[in-house]
Amino acid sequence: MHHLLKRAAADLAAAQNVVALTGAGISTESGIPPFRGKGGLWERFDLMEIAHIDVLRGDPAKVWRILVKEMKEIVDQARPNDGHKGLVKLEELGLLKTVITQNVDGLHQMAGNTDVIEFHGTFAWQRCMDCHQRVETHKVDMTEIPPRCECKGILRPDVVFFGELIPPHHLWRSRQVAADCDVMLVVGTSAIVQPAALMPVIAKNSGAKVIEINPESTPLTHQISDYLILGRAGEVMNRILAELEQVIR
Ligand code: NAD
Ligand code: ZN
Repeated sequence: MHHLLKRAAADLAAAQNVVALTGAGISTESGIPPFRGKGGLWERFDLMEIAHIDVLRGDPAKVWRILVKEMKEIVDQARPNDGHKGLVKLEELGLLKTVITQNVDGLHQMAGNTDVIEFHGTFAWQRCMDCHQRVETHKVDMTEIPPRCECKGILRPDVVFFGELIPPHHLWRSRQVAADCDVMLVVGTSAIVQPAALMPVIAKNSGAKVIEINPESTPLTHQISDYLILGRAGEVMNRILAELEQVIR
């Protein structure tokens, strides 16, 4: 693993424009369970059953009870970990330009990254299913589930459910930054959910190096990624940054 950490540091030091694509795995060390993999939500219930737009439309109370309420409690308590902080350091070094995240937990912004594309929306906001007015999640009265808007319409998280489209401006901008970067760091994503998993493919086809950080291999490994650094995001980021200090000093 050590030679890969050195290689990543060298690739980052030589880069002008680094973009990160992150998934649920970067937030597991902050106490938020991922969808897949060990401790993932899939092990407890079938997410396609719950996090699907048809289920939300048909039985919003069920989705709130099973998924949203618990997610809110977990996200409220979560704080950025060394994985998030490492990406902030890379931005401060002038290397990292943009984070494309599939996460809805807001931890990249809380850590201090300034350009974050929330590909799947954000849990920090709710949206009325009738009048589409948005309200900050922490201002929502949760004594009644599902909570309601002033117009009595049902509120839903402002996130992308299975069966919904990615907000076009997020998709468009993500494709743009993926095509323009010279290194893409792919951290903590199973690279199964589309179209997010296409971003590393776009980067690769545009000539970028693609570096994966994950305790497990993914469909990108050996196909799209130049190499996979096996391990947890926090520890691997810390070790890459330590190597990077040697290179750029
Ligand atoms: P995923 O749940 O499908 O996969 C998680 C990946 O992270 C796996 O490949 C796993 O091996 C890896 N991983 C686990 N622990 C890790 C660690 N400590 N460091 C690095 N990697 C680690 O996640 P996904 O690819 O993001 O796709 C699932 C979808 O679920 C996302 O689109 C997202 O919208 C949503 N989601 C978001 C959150 C969140 O906001 N934190 C949490 C769960 C699910
Ligand atoms: Zn409303």
